[in-house]
Amino acid sequence: MVSQELLEILRCPADVRNGPNAGMLDLVKDAWLVCRDCGRKYPIKNDIPIMLIEEGDKYKSTPVEQLGAPA
Ligand SMILES: [Zn+2]
Repeated sequence: MVSQELLEILRCPADVRNGPNAGMLDLVKDAWLVCRDCGRKYPIKNDIPIMLIEEGDKYKSTPVEQLGAPA
């Protein structure tokens, strides 16, 4: 489980430079962090969000409802 405090400070690394409210993330299925701005999806593995742009890119075009468990 990723803590609420951590969720509040985490931002998408692709958007964070655009300002304090850019790149905010939504927790989906307790397994993904989905960027509200660019749609990248960061997997959470062993309770650790993998905040790498390359990781987020892999599922960028996958609809949220089609996300399975992170590989
Ligand atoms: Zn983003």
